[in-house]
Amino acid sequence: MMKTDQKVAVCHSINEVREKIREIKTAGNTIGFVPTMGALHEGHISLFSHAAKSSDVLVASIFVNPEQFGPNEDFDRYPRQLEEDLKVCANENISVVFAPSKDEMYDEKKYLQIKIEQLNKHLCGASRPGFFEGILLIVNKLFNIIEPDVAVFGQKDYQQFQIIKQMVREFNHAVDLEMAPIIRANDGLALSSRNTYLSDEQRLIAPSLYRTLSFISDQIKSGVHKPALLISHQKDELEAKGLEVDYLNVYTSDTLQPVTELTKGEKYLIAGAVYAGETRLIDNILTVV
Ligand code: AMP
Repeated sequence: MMKTDQKVAVCHSINEVREKIREIKTAGNTIGFVPTMGALHEGHISLFSHAAKSSDVLVASIFVNPEQFGPNEDFDRYPRQLEEDLKVCANENISVVFAPSKDEMYDEKKYLQIKIEQLNKHLCGASRPGFFEGILLIVNKLFNIIEPDVAVFGQKDYQQFQIIKQMVREFNHAVDLEMAPIIRANDGLALSSRNTYLSDEQRLIAPSLYRTLSFISDQIKSGVHKPALLISHQKDELEAKGLEVDYLNVYTSDTLQPVTELTKGEKYLIAGAVYAGETRLIDNILTVV
């Protein structure tokens, strides 16, 4: 797709965006959708490019979803930069940006809830109660509003992708999901809107998470099939560097359960979350043993 500085239709209301979507569909186009919380970086841009390959018209949403933040998390502090983001979207051939307010998306009182079983028991689900329920709620609403043909999410949030995939299956959303690879800085740190919180010193130690995951992956591939001791040492090393480990483990790649013994030929998720000061960083590698 050619890059042009085209005009982006920015819709703040559900009615407005539905109208735009209707026009696009009536003209016979398929819609590729990328939901984001804004503060766009190369990771998001890679999802736009990915979506452009499998659809005619690109729609992005920019919404910092209050429902997926816990009471002590960074909702108020989360970077918001709509003007800059819109320039990025124009440059990436996004036709429609849906940027609703909180009131547009949520009634004051809700009577329904989505409940998740098993898939949120470990990884981020264990330490962020209500996080994935909040994500499913917003993605469910966005899918109903945008009705995309294709929606693209990043592997960076692998647990999110698996849970959304399950929702699409169980709730019969008519959308094809695609997962795009993790985009990293030169030193390996996975790009994230939250990286802007890092001090210079924290930024220097942050890539240790990816280096650790890569080391575990290499060890597993070269025959370590009971990784508990290896993981325990790696946790200690991360802590010694000044990162606080929330989790670091190997999981089944479909059901997201921790594994103690790996089977040859199977695909596993090696995933970790650490705190650099107050900033939470997550990363993962998919490995076939
Ligand atoms: P966010 O704005 O952080 O909610 O992320 C929106 C989408 O971008 C999600 O599908 C993320 O998985 C994806 N994403 C975030 N960071 C990266 C990255 N470094 N590489 C690829 N995708 C990413």
